Amino acid sequence: MTDPSATIVAAATPPGRGGIAIVRLSGPLCAAIARAMLGQLPPPRHATTSRFRAADGGALDEGLALYFPAPHSYTGEDVLELHGHGGPLLVEALIARAVALGARRAQPGEFTLRAYLNEKLDLAQAEAVADLIDAGSEAAARAALRSLQGDFSARVRALDEALAQLRAHVEATIDFPTDEIDFLADRALGERLAGVRELCAALQATARQGRLLTEGLTVVIAGAPNAGKSTLLNRLAGHDAAIVTAIPGTTRDVLRERIQLEGVPLLLLDTAGLRDSGDAIEAEGMRRARAAMELADRVLFLVDAAEDPGAAGFDAERMRIPAQVPVTLVFNKIDLPGAGVGSVPSRPERTELAQLRISAVTGAGLEELRCHLLEAAGYRSSDSGALSARRRHLEALAATAAHLERAAEHCRAAGAGELAAEELRAAQRSLGQITGTGTADELLGRIFSAFCIGK
Ligand code: GDP
Repeated sequence: MTDPSATIVAAATPPGRGGIAIVRLSGPLCAAIARAMLGQLPPPRHATTSRFRAADGGALDEGLALYFPAPHSYTGEDVLELHGHGGPLLVEALIARAVALGARRAQPGEFTLRAYLNEKLDLAQAEAVADLIDAGSEAAARAALRSLQGDFSARVRALDEALAQLRAHVEATIDFPTDEIDFLADRALGERLAGVRELCAALQATARQGRLLTEGLTVVIAGAPNAGKSTLLNRLAGHDAAIVTAIPGTTRDVLRERIQLEGVPLLLLDTAGLRDSGDAIEAEGMRRARAAMELADRVLFLVDAAEDPGAAGFDAERMRIPAQVPVTLVFNKIDLPGAGVGSVPSRPERTELAQLRISAVTGAGLEELRCHLLEAAGYRSSDSGALSARRRHLEALAATAAHLERAAEHCRAAGAGELAAEELRAAQRSLGQITGTGTADELLGRIFSAFCIGK
């Protein structure tokens, strides 16, 4: 993935014209390249005014040079930074000169990958670097910075440590089979296991909140044609993103719109009217709508409260909504006569369902809808200790929790100590994926290729 014997070079500042541009190098050739380009090796960590020279000795640019000898640098390797004038041609000339002197152009995220491989950052911190750069709100940026500074990793390590102690306890017990231990009678073990599960649940709650801030919430707006899905999308987005017409079946594809609610990015997907028809394009739209629903954090199912006050359309469609996705039933068009509040028969099978009444046209009930979306996702606006997290972290924590639950079951059954120990081992492996202990190359490739070049 990255060959540590190679010296890499890239612009660390975005492309385009600006006051200053920074070209950064990392790797064993930094000192030699500094001598060739600057005529000297700048003293470590001192901004040194220098001429940046071409092969013929003429100056390409002048600016500040900074040299960070290994291991005290971002990547843990020798790093050289050249701060020149912010012109794209100048930047390219400096990079080309470094390449002529033996460096190669960096891949996206390669500086941070090296920092990870040299144990300057763990994987969760490396991801927080990208999340900080990509943060779409101040709340998201603060959360990412906390994760970058290691707050999230410290929580993961604390859980890992508690798990290690629990494993040691269980394994010590099963090492003495003659004693025929009774797990049930071992109070200390029970307490320890409960403690670990609590830590895990608390971390899951923190990570869920973090993921909301970092990755946002994906909400699918579903419902019959003409229920008002496009109108609601436009209303929430604040401009005409979707085409609104009174002819059923206008929205043929899945429309995407990004908005923000209190700093939480919200990806809204307006699906093609769920309608069985012979039209091939519309059928494809419906297929995409169902695929989008699979990945959603929540489905807003819209019904036209005037046309279908009992929401019969929802009962017909419910089977097709993936069981794991929470649904909110939204009665729209309450401004119309015939959409009276009393007309909705309460149904026992819908008692667990969140229900709201809105008018996408007049805006009635929309504030409640916005609050509902944030609350349902577990967002706490008062959480000043929020950390950034990703879906990947949540999945690892969910796997950890599932193994812990099975370990608890085995502990309750007589003589299943070996099985409990195996589940605890698996729990620790799942947890390790967050910070990157024993992480597969393929996963690293996926994470770091999503970075920008130069980071
Ligand atoms: P979609 O097919 O579900 O995307 O529905 P549209 O958003 O295209 O809306 C269909 C029709 O219903 C349009 O004529 C909208 O103006 C109308 N409509 C949508 N929401 C409301 C509402 O809250 N009240 C009223 N009176 N009309 C609405």
